Amino acid sequence: MYFSHLECSVPCGAGPFNARDRHHVCPGCGMPLFARYDIARARTEWSRASLAGRTPNMWRYREMLPLFPGEAPITLGEGFTPLLRTCRLADATGFDRLYIKDEAFNPTNSFKARGQSAAMTRAKALGATTVTLPTAGNAGNAAAAYAAAADICCEIFMPRDAKQPFLDECALYGASVTLVDGLITDAGKMAGEKARELGWYDLSTLKEPYRAEGKKTMGYELGEQFAWELPDWIIYPTGGGTGMVGMWKAFDEMEALGWIGAKRPRMVTVQPTGCAPIVRAFEQGIERAPMWENPDTEAHGLRVPKAIGDFLVLRAIRESGGTALAVTDRQMVDDMLLIGRLEGISAAPEGAAALSAARILLESGRIRRDETVVLFNTGGALKYLEVLRSVR
Ligand SMILES: *Cc1c(COP(=O)(O)O)cnc(C)c1O
Repeated sequence: MYFSHLECSVPCGAGPFNARDRHHVCPGCGMPLFARYDIARARTEWSRASLAGRTPNMWRYREMLPLFPGEAPITLGEGFTPLLRTCRLADATGFDRLYIKDEAFNPTNSFKARGQSAAMTRAKALGATTVTLPTAGNAGNAAAAYAAAADICCEIFMPRDAKQPFLDECALYGASVTLVDGLITDAGKMAGEKARELGWYDLSTLKEPYRAEGKKTMGYELGEQFAWELPDWIIYPTGGGTGMVGMWKAFDEMEALGWIGAKRPRMVTVQPTGCAPIVRAFEQGIERAPMWENPDTEAHGLRVPKAIGDFLVLRAIRESGGTALAVTDRQMVDDMLLIGRLEGISAAPEGAAALSAARILLESGRIRRDETVVLFNTGGALKYLEVLRSVR
């Protein structure tokens, strides 16, 4: 075990902070905290060859996950999802090597399971008895399931217009749901207030250090599944940005471990035209993304008008030589159907948005057809089937 301490992600100069204590954001500046590891020691003691034969879930990278000696993770088998090489879809869209990392295989049907497995593991170790978070749906379903597995109460705050299957699944795991007038940011304010008032453990994205740790395992898996030659492009539907931030952190760790070289994939953020704060900030060349007014999209996982980790996402895009672009709901839904019809893969509108973006970048010549492209299908279609009817 190499988990050592917490550090400000900015960094603002405050800290380091003791990871045995309960910390949510940086006490110095209020920005996200990152978990840090004794990588110098891990580099000499831990080799990637040791991964062979380990259980195929995200805890196979446990040396770089937030666990202290003697602790066991809260796990439902999340991670080590299939990396599928598409054939018919690649032919139809003009790519030589187009892959889908299919996160719908995770418990509760989305990659949010990875973050919640890591976060709930720490919440339990830190003695939390009630956790809370705002969600558009998938994060709440994952939190509810892992809280049940951890024997922790779960208090979820969701926008009133959340899709019904997400509400039903929270009930399945015994979580309590409060519907909030407004958006995920309003739900977040309410969760934060309750957390302060009642001592609940706040699991809001990037307002605790460990969801990003769970999601960073997507970066380790890409390395392992591509035999440590990372792809040229990663296309990622970005809401709060934890996945982008996590993978970018993973690549730095993997290089420090001596597992990969300095070459990085170009990181692409895709957002809906109805809510694209990161895209706008990228185009304007600014470091923070101002609040997006009146967000409007059926891809609720991407309906995040303001994200605390915006500067970390923008940093990853820029340092990687990537880009950010917006696609319409209509494009997403058409591409859900294309992925389904040509590959038999169940994609959420958010996941399909990655295909829409890749096609635009190929057409404009930004991506060359002989480059290796990975689309993140962040969740499955089943909880969104109503969207197929309403958008068309
Ligand atoms: C939450 C969510 C996203 C956005 O993920 P972030 O890592 O928070 O940017 C994308 N797709 C789906 C299906 C989601 O549930």
